[in-house]
Amino acid sequence: MASVTEIPAGTASVETHADQVDHLLQFQRDALEMIAVGRPTDDILDGLCRLAEAMVPNSVASIMLLDADRAHLWVRAAPSIPADGIDALNGLQPGPFAGSCGTAVFNEQPVFVNNVLSDARWARLIDIAERFNLQACWSMPIRSASEQVIGSFALTSFKTRPPEPFHERLLDTASYLAGIVLEREQHAENLATAAVAFDHMREAVMVTDNRNCIVQVNRAFERITGFAAEEAIGQTPKMLRSGHQDALFYSEFYRALEQQGEWRGEIWNRRKNGDVYPQWLSVRIVRDDNGEVHRYVSVFADITDIKESERKLWQLAHHDALSQLPNRLMLGARLDHAVQRAHRHGERVALLFIDLDRFKNVNDSLGHQVGDELLKEVAGRLVSSVHEDDTVARLGGDEFVILLEDIPHANAALRVAERLLKRLGESLVVADRTLFVTASIGISLYPEDAETPDLLLQHADAAMYRAKALGRNRAAFYAPELTRDVQQRLELEHGLRNALARNEFVVHYQPQFAASSGRLVGIEALVRWQHPQRGLVPPNEFIPVAEESGLIDELGCWVTKTACRQARAWRDMGYREFMLAVNLSPYQLGSACSSRLASIFEQVGFPREYFEFEVTESLFVEQGGMAMRQLRHLREQLGIGIAMDDFGTGHSSLSQLKQLPISKLKIDRSFVTDLPNDANDAAIVRAIILMAKTLGLTIVAEGVETEAQRAFLRECGCDHMQGYLFARPMPAAEITRLFSDTGITDGNP
Ligand code: C2E
Ligand code: MG
Ligand code: MG
Repeated sequence: MASVTEIPAGTASVETHADQVDHLLQFQRDALEMIAVGRPTDDILDGLCRLAEAMVPNSVASIMLLDADRAHLWVRAAPSIPADGIDALNGLQPGPFAGSCGTAVFNEQPVFVNNVLSDARWARLIDIAERFNLQACWSMPIRSASEQVIGSFALTSFKTRPPEPFHERLLDTASYLAGIVLEREQHAENLATAAVAFDHMREAVMVTDNRNCIVQVNRAFERITGFAAEEAIGQTPKMLRSGHQDALFYSEFYRALEQQGEWRGEIWNRRKNGDVYPQWLSVRIVRDDNGEVHRYVSVFADITDIKESERKLWQLAHHDALSQLPNRLMLGARLDHAVQRAHRHGERVALLFIDLDRFKNVNDSLGHQVGDELLKEVAGRLVSSVHEDDTVARLGGDEFVILLEDIPHANAALRVAERLLKRLGESLVVADRTLFVTASIGISLYPEDAETPDLLLQHADAAMYRAKALGRNRAAFYAPELTRDVQQRLELEHGLRNALARNEFVVHYQPQFAASSGRLVGIEALVRWQHPQRGLVPPNEFIPVAEESGLIDELGCWVTKTACRQARAWRDMGYREFMLAVNLSPYQLGSACSSRLASIFEQVGFPREYFEFEVTESLFVEQGGMAMRQLRHLREQLGIGIAMDDFGTGHSSLSQLKQLPISKLKIDRSFVTDLPNDANDAAIVRAIILMAKTLGLTIVAEGVETEAQRAFLRECGCDHMQGYLFARPMPAAEITRLFSDTGITDGNP
């Protein structure tokens, strides 16, 4: 109490106006000096109080501040007020009758109470006034930079007195300076808080300057990228690039930053250890007062975990738990996409609906666990039987669907189906049991069968039921005519296998004659199938199937051997001056071809120089150099002849003939048919013969049926002729009769 009444030491009496102004300036200068040298806030606030007290004798100064909820005032600085005085003032609630400070803060106006004891605003604080002998109290609100009242600066006198203008200006100045000091303190606190937050954020922060050099990073940056702050600072963010975004991406990125001042999105970056990871990135431009780029602030989070859990969720939603194959949902999405693509590019899509035959039996008799194992095995077989880009999905139960994109034709889809049937048909061991499963496959095609994904699936399903109805373990198309073809083809293939074993093939022979003398100069072996139900089946109906199913090797060998044996028999009868011609399929050409042939000649005892293969041009065009080398080998090593069959139907030109290892050219029947009346064909045939002659090739005309054709061909210089006009292909016995009838022998049998 006593200390409050004491007048502070060093009090100067304030007299003249000029003195007052001088003192005010001095007050400001002293206060600013304290701020400038960075004295602690509390020292400065105490200092402000002391300076004010020095200018107003018989008074004490105090600074009270609102707390965070703005409900109470607390003494922040009051160097001349004793502790019990401060205790009495602390917690003052602002209000219309809350003493000078409480009222000033409440009304946000200065309050000058000249006589505390008689002023209503002090009525409630009269105890304090009496206790500490307070007479007058002037209070000025302190404002923050944003003009918000944050407290008050007060001078309390031990005598009643009204303020002079000087006092008002002093209070005004002191509260203003206190506001600055407190503001600065707040700012520093904010900065310190920001710095702590900066380093404790989970997100990485990277600040770059206007030249995009890194100037600051936080700890999360170090943790996520693996680069220490010292390693990063001074570098550019390029050090983080993964290469997953291209130049176009970055030009878009900077364009967006420039235009919107901000960019957000997902990008892939690389850690120091080389790992590439996804991050969610937000970049913002900070501009200076002139609007120039000052800083780029990037905040990013490592979203590897989020991505991974997203992926797992996605996997769960789109995949079948048992087989891990895509489920119906995923198939739907892929099918939608495939149909759109096929529509755009004019491509074809095939859908294979696969249902295991009698799967229920497995489940019922062996239990679900075995059933599940079997389904997993089936899933694996399906996946391994198709290309990686094809979609194999499980719809549920024993139903699977395979989506084939960009297939050239229906037959290609059928090939896949057949491959699947074959693979599924192989025995499998589940839980120590050997099981056999078969499946029925329905095929629908876009765009032939349906234009929408839903219908395609429905049709494939319907086709699958047709396959079941046809006897299971087979494929069926949705389109009935395609299915019929498939049926026939499957039956044919099946029949062909048995035919070889059952010896159902026969070879017919068609002689070739010299155009000039009419002498028999050659015999072409032509295979037929003596089918138990269908009768004699022509080669055009089964050779392609034999070629596709790989049976052609065995069949071709059989024909060659049979024909050689027969020709050997004729030779033994004394008929020796003819070439034996056998047709060779391109599918037969392979490394084993020539050794197999050599062993046939040896076995049969047939002279190779009387043997020739007829090959079609497609062989030269499609298989290129490989086939050419093999044929050349056959010709040079074995000494057999090579004739080009069906010449003119393929794509080889006359000029290419020179390079081919052939000795004979057979003009295709299609050029002969309309001779001699069709001027075009006549010209072509004439040209072919002329050209072939200059190359030293022997010319054979196929399919000569009329005298007129024969006359024309002879006149053109054709060497040999083959056709119904002379003889149809016939069984060996008839050729023997022909030999003996015409008596064409070279002499002694
Ligand atoms: P290719 O080698 O061009 O055989 C000639 C075909 O024309 C034969 O049909 C023959 O019967 C027929 N032909 C002959 N002269 C006439 C005629 O004056 N008028 C008409 N309209 N047709 C005539 P084929 O026997 O049905 O054989 C068809 C094709 O099957 C053969 O054409 C050949 O490419 C192939 N082929 C036949 N046997 C075999 C074989 O053992 N192996 C292979 N790879 N292919 C064979
Ligand atoms: Mg032929
Ligand atoms: Mg021919």
